[in-house]
Amino acid sequence: MLQLNNVSTFYGQIQALRGISMEVNQGEIVALIGGNGAGKTTTLRSISGMIKVKSGDILLEGKKINGISSNELTARGMAHVPEGRRIFPRLTVMENLEMGAYLVNDKKLIAQRMQRGFEFFPRLAERKTQLGGTLSGGEQQMLAVARALMIEPKLLLLDEPSMGLSPLFVEAIFDIIVKLKQELKTTILLVEQNASMALDIADRAYVLRTGEIILNGKAEDIANNNSVKEAYLGEA
Ligand code: ATP
Repeated sequence: MLQLNNVSTFYGQIQALRGISMEVNQGEIVALIGGNGAGKTTTLRSISGMIKVKSGDILLEGKKINGISSNELTARGMAHVPEGRRIFPRLTVMENLEMGAYLVNDKKLIAQRMQRGFEFFPRLAERKTQLGGTLSGGEQQMLAVARALMIEPKLLLLDEPSMGLSPLFVEAIFDIIVKLKQELKTTILLVEQNASMALDIADRAYVLRTGEIILNGKAEDIANNNSVKEAYLGEA
């Protein structure tokens, strides 16, 4: 589905990614973990074209996507939910979802997908006409994910979906990610600080440190790796 070959990305003179290679296969949840500043967000930004890569290739379904516009990527089935829930605060929940479907012309399809979004996120259904900005942090995060689903993405990039959420919402968001995989067959690349929960639901994982992938493998094996436990899972 997604392949990165030797990708390097810079912010000015600072090299944030040092030739990373990874792949995400159809139907998988792949977790990308690592400490602060390791380059997780930069990896997602590089994939979705928010930042230009300096060298290396990024392929979506075998086709190179370096330098492609975000509209074109959306049209090809990729959605990116960035860090910090960028919803439209002055639009209602329903209007936010409609904005997510800006590339979909079929009104019936939009209505169907909105309905499905409300089934996935009953809390949003209860707040359909409420302004985005008046939702709690957890609800805004749910809205950001629900909005991305309006294009029915094949590949969903999720950046820190659990950040700043209360434990109840964290559970809810992780449950939904699993449901997306199981019910909608969405392929997911998940960036998380909460490494242990991410590894719990992921099939495979990559560990980033200072812009390099230092480890990758089955999520279960990564979770049992002693150096990972020590560095990222808070176990000695
Ligand atoms: P965090 O979990 O803290 O967000 P991260 O793993 O997502 O960390 P990135 O945000 O990708 O890490 O940052 C990777 C490196 O790039 C860091 O050294 C960071 O300081 C640097 N960096 C990130 N954004 C910028 C920017 N806009 N300008 C300059 N340097 C940046």
